[in-house]
Amino acid sequence: MVEKCSPGKRRAPDKDGNAAADAARVSPVEHELLDLAIMWFRRDLRLADNPALAATARMAKRVLPVYIWSPEEEGQFQPGTSSRWWLAASLATLAADLAALGSRLLLLRASDSGAALCELCRDTGARAVAFNHLYDPVSMCRDAEARAALAALGVACHPLPADLLCQPWEVLRADGRPFSDFASFWEAHRRCLYLPPLPRPRRLPRAPPAPAGLAPSDLNVHGDAATGQLGDHLAQHWAPGEAGAARALAGFAATGLPGFSVDRAKGDRPSTSHLSPHLHYGEVSARQVFAAAVGAGEARRAPDSLHAFLRQLAFREYGRYLAFHYPFTLDQPMLGHLQAMPWHYDVELFKAWKRGQTGYPVVDASMRQLWSTGWIHHRGRVVCASFLVKNLLLPWQWGLKHFWDTLIDADLESDSLGWQYCAGCLRDGHALSHMVDLAEEAARYDPGGAHVRRWIPTLARLPNSHIHSPWTASPDLLAAAGIQLGEDYPFPVLDMPSMRSTLDAAAKAMDEAAAEEAAAEGGRRPSQGPFRPSTRRPDLTTCSALPAFAGAQHSIGTVMNSLDNQASFSVTVDSSDGVATELGAATAGCQLSDGTQ
Ligand SMILES: Cc1cc2nc3c(=O)[nH]c(=O)nc-3n(C[C@H](O)[C@H](O)[C@H](O)COP(=O)(O)OP(=O)(O)OC[C@H]3O[C@@H](n4cnc5c(N)ncnc54)[C@H](O)[C@@H]3O)c2cc1C
Repeated sequence: MVEKCSPGKRRAPDKDGNAAADAARVSPVEHELLDLAIMWFRRDLRLADNPALAATARMAKRVLPVYIWSPEEEGQFQPGTSSRWWLAASLATLAADLAALGSRLLLLRASDSGAALCELCRDTGARAVAFNHLYDPVSMCRDAEARAALAALGVACHPLPADLLCQPWEVLRADGRPFSDFASFWEAHRRCLYLPPLPRPRRLPRAPPAPAGLAPSDLNVHGDAATGQLGDHLAQHWAPGEAGAARALAGFAATGLPGFSVDRAKGDRPSTSHLSPHLHYGEVSARQVFAAAVGAGEARRAPDSLHAFLRQLAFREYGRYLAFHYPFTLDQPMLGHLQAMPWHYDVELFKAWKRGQTGYPVVDASMRQLWSTGWIHHRGRVVCASFLVKNLLLPWQWGLKHFWDTLIDADLESDSLGWQYCAGCLRDGHALSHMVDLAEEAARYDPGGAHVRRWIPTLARLPNSHIHSPWTASPDLLAAAGIQLGEDYPFPVLDMPSMRSTLDAAAKAMDEAAAEEAAAEGGRRPSQGPFRPSTRRPDLTTCSALPAFAGAQHSIGTVMNSLDNQASFSVTVDSSDGVATELGAATAGCQLSDGTQ
């Protein structure tokens, strides 16, 4: 018999930002157990704080966890080499983690996830599929099709909220429309109810014997792209998987977080959390990161750092928020008039940028780092993105796709937000006319030139005074440093004054074209401002099989504000069913109502 899940939504907080204690999750109810449910893993490769996994564990006697590798469904946004390396390693650890709890991960290769799930349901007799919600339009279309196909088979679908602190449809303006600037979004976001993370399950219902599936190594996630040296480098520096994510989070909370507000702008040392690839593949949840940050003793004594870090986490939420409400922004500008920008589609300049051969060391060092390691610090991303768009006048979508293909933390919503922000496509991002001052950035980001020396060893012997501007060095100085400019390292591809005047001319042409277009449409379309907004709410069900958090009664803002006056807060986790009783490492430090830490 198909278990009935009550449709509904989380209740909105009241005007003080609090919500009734039982609003967060529906309490467990008596329900007839299904024989078999499918847990469809996607970008939630973890056991702790995984609502869909917790729901299947409660709704069925047996649970079949499945991951379907179906890159064709991602269209032009199939994962790049580094991201695939990460996924392959993460799936292997997930399979081992599930096996340790008596379950078994089924790995499938398919070109249509919905069809694969239907076949699986027919083969096994499963009557329910649970999965955690994704917010990018590619996934949402795929999920809608899968749900329709499963519904036609009579299989119940349970999409659950797991990836964000707050759901996009919970953060709206008074008139019910979505925000289109970060500050207003964040203010409203803070009024949402804070839900503490679900505990890690101690055991799981057993998986059915069939079907065979593939071993992680046979899934061929890498495809034809051999990772070679890059793979060796990645294996040395990263530990994909839930345990690796928990270690990275605990390490950052203890040592990196207290100095975050000052150190995060520095590119010559690891100054940020490096959690982004773990977050992308859902090896740790935003709720776990939030809980660990607010619970970190050291950080509570450094509220500036804590707020700065939580603000970064809110940017991640905002990226998903924009993708959900304004799905076109993944590759179209949020501000309509940017459509009329006369980009220079210069392939040679694009190649120079990708290869770190622009002649501007602060840009080239980061681009070479990206190519070799799949990583760039946030400031480096801003500098490289801004340079591509404002200085080289290349379309930001080219840069977005290159970052997508190469970043180890490639994440469509965050990538798109970053590029839109730098390219002048957002109301509250950098204005189109704003060019990043490379000398100023170099002084802030890489004051001693260590980053440039590491990634452009040719320049290593230049003194600090010229490390960021080798073209200003005298011939004698260049000779003493062993550099033949134009041979060993390029002259600047374009000089600054000409880049400035080209940008100004392009911006003027864009404004004129946008004004003409608006006039042609009878002035109906604004030359500036968001357009084609949508206020969509998915058909999200809240499953009655989810564990309840009886004490979830504070808004996100209340929890954050309590940090300023050193107050403590408490949550109560209902773990009476024994399925989930151990709190994960990520929640260490939170005061629980029963007095345990
Ligand atoms: C042009 C450009 C492209 C970007 N592409 C990506 C991308 O593909 N994937 C990605 O995860 N981030 C992207 N970012 C955002 C940001 O640079 C990275 O999230 C951050 O550098 C990751 O390092 P960290 O984990 O140490 O971050 P921390 O500073 O420690 O922040 C903690 C977490 O907050 C989130 N976060 C921080 N800053 C941002 C931001 N500006 N936007 C969205 N989320 C943020 C990330 O999940 C991050 O792991 C991009 C930024 C720019 C300017």
